[in-house]
Amino acid sequence: MPNNGQLTNFINNQWTPAREAEYAPIFNPATGERLADVPLSSASDVAAVIEAAEAAFPAWRRTPPEERIQFLFKFKHLLEEHFDEIARITTTENGKTLTEARAELRRGIENVEVACGIPTLMQGYNLEDVARGVDEFMIRQPLGVVAAITPFNFPAMIPLWFLPYAIACGNTFILKPSERVPLTMRRVFELLAETGLPPGVANLVNGDKRAVDVLLEHRAVRAISFVGSTAVSRYIYSRGAEFGKRVQCQGGAKNHAVVLPDADLETATQIIGDSAFGCAGQRCLAVSVAVTVGDARKDFRDSIAAMANSLQVGSGLDEAVQMGPVISPQSRARVESLIEKGVGEGARVLLDGRAAKIPAYADGYFIKPTILDDVSPDGELSRTEIFGPVLSLVHADTVDEAIDILSRNAYGNAASIFTNSGAAARRFRYEAPAGNIGINIGIAAPMAYFPFSGWKDSFLGVLHGQGRDAVEFYTEKKVVVERWLKEWSRKF
Ligand code: NAD
Repeated sequence: MPNNGQLTNFINNQWTPAREAEYAPIFNPATGERLADVPLSSASDVAAVIEAAEAAFPAWRRTPPEERIQFLFKFKHLLEEHFDEIARITTTENGKTLTEARAELRRGIENVEVACGIPTLMQGYNLEDVARGVDEFMIRQPLGVVAAITPFNFPAMIPLWFLPYAIACGNTFILKPSERVPLTMRRVFELLAETGLPPGVANLVNGDKRAVDVLLEHRAVRAISFVGSTAVSRYIYSRGAEFGKRVQCQGGAKNHAVVLPDADLETATQIIGDSAFGCAGQRCLAVSVAVTVGDARKDFRDSIAAMANSLQVGSGLDEAVQMGPVISPQSRARVESLIEKGVGEGARVLLDGRAAKIPAYADGYFIKPTILDDVSPDGELSRTEIFGPVLSLVHADTVDEAIDILSRNAYGNAASIFTNSGAAARRFRYEAPAGNIGINIGIAAPMAYFPFSGWKDSFLGVLHGQGRDAVEFYTEKKVVVERWLKEWSRKF
């Protein structure tokens, strides 16, 4: 980073100052300390990035897949070598604990590993003699320039849902990271450059909506991957489609965990607590509503309140801390106002984390774990993505009623059940209207070789991130029907 604290864009393997950008400050959420200034790149800055990616494409797509993945092997080793350094950057700019930052980087690296299988994953299929002497092939080819627009809550992992597959498939790639957490990817791109990846293959442009709009509208960008809130995902999906692009949009979430009376209470409490309060509730897979069924109500309520109350809140850089701050003062104010709304709707505050004071971090953006009981299943708290450390407790008399509560929710990112009954679990797996299902699992995060699914308002598109879906998304199918006449072969 230059001495003036102004970040730059990564174009053609060069860190390049934005030409006409305004700058926005970024802060450490635990301390309020200003970390750097991020450029909100102008249209001409973004156009320069796209041109670099476009110019690099012809040579990169001709580079054999086996050679392309050698850069990813080197990349993986560099990420491992700098593992803790990257995790510390993530904690500093995002606020999550070091343990959480390490975990997300681990999940990101998994995607680099899976993309190293591209020589196999990218294969097509064929059939001889579709008619006499006629053969047919399906081959996959890269699209060209592709771009990803990513959110603040997983600065390391989410860009890596896309980058490794995109370039392994032979595309050239542009990342527009969240302007609230640009430092993690800055370091990761420095490491990527050390692999010797040819200039223009992977680029990074900082910015906000203005930069995104250029990516959406530019003729050379063939595909857009987006992860963020549902409102923005709707905009990106429709705008991208208008400009003829292939688009996948992973949106917001409101995840439920159903607790049956036969669940192991201690395990369910620990896992649901980790899910609801980990990353200060700023995970798209966080459990936000626990639906207790029948007799599970009282025991679960008491045990989750005790667990949440025991969590140590503070700076994520302190290894003893179990929960960090939320991303910004605006986010804290929004979460606190949603709690207030819930109370207005009749919810009972079991644990109140508002106006949290962490003596050593008076300027941080902290909310302590909060639990609301007797929340109305159709009220604002049950409908709205809170994205903070707030767990709502809803009660149902039967499993049918619990599944019905889930079904009425607009989102469908994840849903979990806690039970010892195979039959109840099977029924839940079959009927729960969400793309990632957890059975006695609180954060149903798919491994890199499975798609990161998501339904309803949590996803727009067909092909998801990660694994085989990513390879489908980043390639175009070409079918070749071929005939060679016997007379011609006799000549040779
Ligand atoms: P966000 O929608 O505010 O921003 C995401 C990205 O979009 C950023 O890069 C931002 O610069 C850009 N952006 C913001 N407003 C825009 C606009 N009007 N036009 C064009 N681009 C715009 O999301 P966030 O606050 O950074 O992240 C939190 C959200 O992301 C939550 O809703 C969370 O559920 C969701 N999320 C979803 C998943 C998933 O897999 N479904 C994963 C992680 C996060």
